[in-house]
Amino acid sequence: MTQPIVEEMDEAIRQGASRLEERHCRICGCTEENACQVERTVAGKKVITGCAWVDYDLCDSPSCLQRAGFSELAATAVIAAAKQEEL
Ligand SMILES: [Zn+2]
Ligand SMILES: [Zn+2]
Repeated sequence: MTQPIVEEMDEAIRQGASRLEERHCRICGCTEENACQVERTVAGKKVITGCAWVDYDLCDSPSCLQRAGFSELAATAVIAAAKQEEL
């Protein structure tokens, strides 16, 4: 049983609130307002979109994932799960 995503977010915000004023990537420093551009394959086509969060302070830019030790496949799964929650 997984926790509701909202509770996870609250927890992440509590943990991050003391040191972060604005949510940003710990590797590249991008923010919601200033997202980096990530090339993805969507429905078989390559598109450039803004990055997405894979962790509270980690975006899915390939270089960030690599430095954080996140596999791209794992990140894709996280994003897919998050998108389903939004829908
Ligand atoms: Zn990043
Ligand atoms: Zn980013």
